[in-house]
Amino acid sequence: MKKTNIKNLSIDELHSIIDDLGEKNHRKSQLMKWLYQKGVEDFSEMTNIPVQLREWLDARYRISSLAPAEAVESPEDGSTKFLMECDDGLMLEAVLMEFEKHQTICISTQIGCPLRCLFCNTGMQGFERDLRSDEILNQVLYFRKAHIRPRRRFNIVFMGMGEPFLNLENLYRSMEILNHQDGFALGEKRITVSTIGFPGKIIDAADSGLKFSLAISLSGTEDRSRKELMPGSAPIMETLSAAEYFAEKSGTRTTLEYVLIAGVNDTEENARALSDLTAGRPFKINLIPLNEWIGSELRRPSEERIDHFISILLPRAPAVTVRRSRGRDISAACGQLRFHRRD
Ligand code: SF4
Repeated sequence: MKKTNIKNLSIDELHSIIDDLGEKNHRKSQLMKWLYQKGVEDFSEMTNIPVQLREWLDARYRISSLAPAEAVESPEDGSTKFLMECDDGLMLEAVLMEFEKHQTICISTQIGCPLRCLFCNTGMQGFERDLRSDEILNQVLYFRKAHIRPRRRFNIVFMGMGEPFLNLENLYRSMEILNHQDGFALGEKRITVSTIGFPGKIIDAADSGLKFSLAISLSGTEDRSRKELMPGSAPIMETLSAAEYFAEKSGTRTTLEYVLIAGVNDTEENARALSDLTAGRPFKINLIPLNEWIGSELRRPSEERIDHFISILLPRAPAVTVRRSRGRDISAACGQLRFHRRD
């Protein structure tokens, strides 16, 4: 009998196994905690579950896991980029970033990406497939087991390969488990999903009851040029209205990521327009000077130009941060490790 991958089940489906067997209610919580809090990889390790039930589960289900095939550490800032091999041989990417007070793990939702944003190496490599929910969760499980220090706070950002809202079912399925008390017990202060912004899906996510913060890749202040840079993007006004709705529903500010590219979207006019679009609204702006990569003609603006952009933006814009991209020396813009390996 082909075994079912148990980490692909939703919480309701997992609970139904216990209900259908007529087992006691607390077995639901025990089973989830073994899978997601203790991260066991074999039913025999679930020692507070009766042997008969463990054997019954083992005969029908399997517990998947992920391990890195390759890791590259940045000597510059301590971030580490991992390539993980899926069961069909395809590779996904995930990054561990070290900060003074916390660690952040950056995970993927797709292998490749169909959206082809010009500043993104992943987008230029094409699309292979969506990740399953177990593959999304197993990235977090791997990091927590192998790298997160005990009692250390860690955050999760969905900013690796792929557009999370194009893999909505598996995003929601994994998010439910990341949020749940018997799962990872993480809320909107610890999880951020980054999207190029599909207004309808943003509104659906705001109404879903799932707990996460939202980051939207804006990177433009005018529809036509933004569409050239990000062919899959929706109109800016609609996107920002949806972002505002999400912020109000979730009680968090929506982050607007703005990849600064020399001569493309880094003019004084852009800075003024960005300020106009965001003044007085529940947003944070995160400026990300481009991480240059081999094969792209796009360039990072000079430090002076970045500072000038900020000086125009600051007076009226809501909170502004600048991400001096981490891991530049290991080509940590999304998609690059996998790209280099293929060469
Ligand atoms: S920036 Fe995000 S949405 Fe755009 S191509 Fe890259 S992975 Fe896809």
